[in-house]
Amino acid sequence: MQIGQDKVVKLHYVLRNDAGEIIDKSEADEPLAYIHGAGNIIPGLEEALIGKSVGDKLTVAVPAEKAYGPSDPELIQAVPRRAFEGTEVKPGMRFHAETEDGPRSVVVTRVQGDMVTIDGNHPLAGQNLNFEVEITEIREANAEELEHGHVHGPGGHAHGDDEEFDEEDFDDEEEGGAGHAH
Ligand SMILES: [Zn+2]
Repeated sequence: MQIGQDKVVKLHYVLRNDAGEIIDKSEADEPLAYIHGAGNIIPGLEEALIGKSVGDKLTVAVPAEKAYGPSDPELIQAVPRRAFEGTEVKPGMRFHAETEDGPRSVVVTRVQGDMVTIDGNHPLAGQNLNFEVEITEIREANAEELEHGHVHGPGGHAHGDDEEFDEEDFDDEEEGGAGHAH
């Protein structure tokens, strides 16, 4: 079986930035599980996997535009310190902010006087991503998985009591996880 639309794929990966530093990798006993064509993984990696088979190993260089996109200056804002309601704000702290486009994870990049600079870009925005990938399993997705848009079972999604949060997870919190878990 080859990788294509609506296949469930499991793979091991190591992700490095252009400096060669490891940003993320799959756990030894827990490959990443995704549904091909369901938007589970970044487009540049998905494209490179089409037609591959179990056991194939490949290296994939994904430019930022086909990964998490360029850093968007409109997502970088200065807000008054009082907006943090007494929290002692420091660079590197991460908050969930309510925005016009819904909740968004933001990181504090600078604190100067009474102003705090926050960045709502994905942590990997603007970065080229270099993957080493080994494919370990390919199967057909079942109807329920296709309806939900994520993999079920080992390495995938386990439905629990917190089902209502299903579609509200932040991408950056799931990144590197094996499939979809709550
Ligand atoms: Zn599901």
